[in-house]
Amino acid sequence: MTIRTGQYVIPAMHAVEGAGFHVRRPFPTPNLPMVDPFLLLDHMGPQEHEPGRAEGAPDHPHRGFETVSYILEGAFEHEDSVGNSGRIGPGAVQWMTAGSGVVHSEMPATEIRTDGGTLHGFQVWVNLPAAAKMIPPKYQDVLARDIPEVVTDGGRVTVRVIAGDFEGTVAAARTHTPIAYWHVRLDAVGSFRGGLPAEWNAMVYVIRGEVAVGEATAREADLVLLAPDGDEVAVGAGGDAAEVLVLAGLPIREPVARYGPFVMNTREEIIEAFEDYQAGRMGAIVR
Ligand code: FE
Repeated sequence: MTIRTGQYVIPAMHAVEGAGFHVRRPFPTPNLPMVDPFLLLDHMGPQEHEPGRAEGAPDHPHRGFETVSYILEGAFEHEDSVGNSGRIGPGAVQWMTAGSGVVHSEMPATEIRTDGGTLHGFQVWVNLPAAAKMIPPKYQDVLARDIPEVVTDGGRVTVRVIAGDFEGTVAAARTHTPIAYWHVRLDAVGSFRGGLPAEWNAMVYVIRGEVAVGEATAREADLVLLAPDGDEVAVGAGGDAAEVLVLAGLPIREPVARYGPFVMNTREEIIEAFEDYQAGRMGAIVR
């Protein structure tokens, strides 16, 4: 096994989403439009909200890709035009395949909007290959207890397997293209290693602490893009406890046309998506 080197260290930018929730966003940015097959990584919080102040993303459409929400603290409530509704709590994942189109809302849980509270989580957008962009919308709700955890490095490292597999431990969520999504927690001297095919694009996002990724050093809200020069990722804690996400996947290598909530292959398909949405063909949330 050869360790992949950290090729670039990219600090996340600050962005405001939906009705006004603040996120740290390593990509897309003007310099890094995507990391094929990933289209977006948003780090929400951790943020303490006063009563009546937590904002969400009210009714909006998506087509052509998947949104993956992973909540660490607090809870979100969602509703959609296909008739689904539910709650994503701490440690849980919602893997939503927008496919041909869905209108949904993503809001902080009622009690957090009313009484205040802390929200902390992630949203990742995963592209779909052309052949799957117009499949029917689908949800995979994965409860915290159904996300496998692997303890390594003599108890110093814990890996939650959100997608793909880690050393033979397979995640509950199914993906359309090969992907790995791991949440790795390291104690102050923890050292993590995981196998990733050399042809996959791969990155490490630092949630908290300071880590060494290959020879690069990164701190909270940095994204480390890995070079295609090995088949293993190595992350070491830098003297304090640290937490990272590892995201990797086989690139889809197709043209990407994206505008706001739609991600297709051509400009014509984006125009069609807008027309379909405006004509109500993606449905509406019935309340
Ligand atoms: Fe959304």
